[in-house]
Amino acid sequence: MVNAVWEDLIGQESLVSRCKAMVASGRVPHALIISAPAGAGKSTLAEILTRALLCTHGNAPCGICSNCQKVLHGNHPDVVRIGISGKNTVVSKSVEQIISELAVKPYEGGRRIVILEDAHAMSLAAQNKLLKSLEEPPEASILLLLCDTLSSLLPTIISRCAMLRMCRVPTRDLAQLLVNRWGMMTMRAQVIANLSDGWVGRAMQMARDDSIWQIREEAFAVLRYLSSPGGIFLAYQHVTPLRARWPQLISFWQTILRDCLLEDASLFIHKDHAKDLAALRSRYHDGALRRKCASLIRAEYDLAQNANPSLVMDSLLLDLMAAE
Ligand SMILES: [Zn+2]
Repeated sequence: MVNAVWEDLIGQESLVSRCKAMVASGRVPHALIISAPAGAGKSTLAEILTRALLCTHGNAPCGICSNCQKVLHGNHPDVVRIGISGKNTVVSKSVEQIISELAVKPYEGGRRIVILEDAHAMSLAAQNKLLKSLEEPPEASILLLLCDTLSSLLPTIISRCAMLRMCRVPTRDLAQLLVNRWGMMTMRAQVIANLSDGWVGRAMQMARDDSIWQIREEAFAVLRYLSSPGGIFLAYQHVTPLRARWPQLISFWQTILRDCLLEDASLFIHKDHAKDLAALRSRYHDGALRRKCASLIRAEYDLAQNANPSLVMDSLLLDLMAAE
């Protein structure tokens, strides 16, 4: 694991101040919810906070003391991480494990920290089981619940936890950050800032993934095929091998059509594809472009809801091809 520091949590300055104050005062709630969408950096925050809570040096987390090192290497005896590893729900059995882990007296850190990675996936029965433990928390134990969507948690769970809510960074600031801090080209930084929807963790993941630019070229290629007679078969051929990347492909189409709807070319995300954008604008009027945007949002939603991906893509390609 990377030796991340508070300063790496860009855009989360007020949250970081709260966490630092909490650690410095020693008054830490027995249960905390870290809330943000997937890929926003919840695990990084949980990891830094865990080290800060166990660190024996002044400037916590120092990253070099024995406690910090053990947390970094995943072998601290007082830190337990529980995830769902490929399953869809956190069942009562996992919560029983959480409760028994919280009850163990700390071996060396002075605190026992249990991290539940996918708290939003807890079944109702699992949440009800956890409630009792939240009402009577064991001494010296801290539970960190990492949650993608708060709406999945019972209000009674939420009300018994302190809330650490991560926030978005405006896309313009995020693009600037990618240019200044990671030396990224402006065009690429703008694309990634928009695709990541202002979440720094997602942007960082994308910035490390060179294949994303190939997906962008495919996104433009498929739109070109769909604009030519009989091109839908070529479009199918191109999208089929990219199945695992369809959510990203859909995000690219959204940003491409967004560019097509803008009057001011200086605001385009895909400035380097001006010719493709002009061709799309001349082929489809604004009403048709807006309908295609709506189809993309629907497809994104359907895929997230586990609809049959092939059916979603079939219908989407037809919508993207439609002249009206
Ligand atoms: Zn330390």
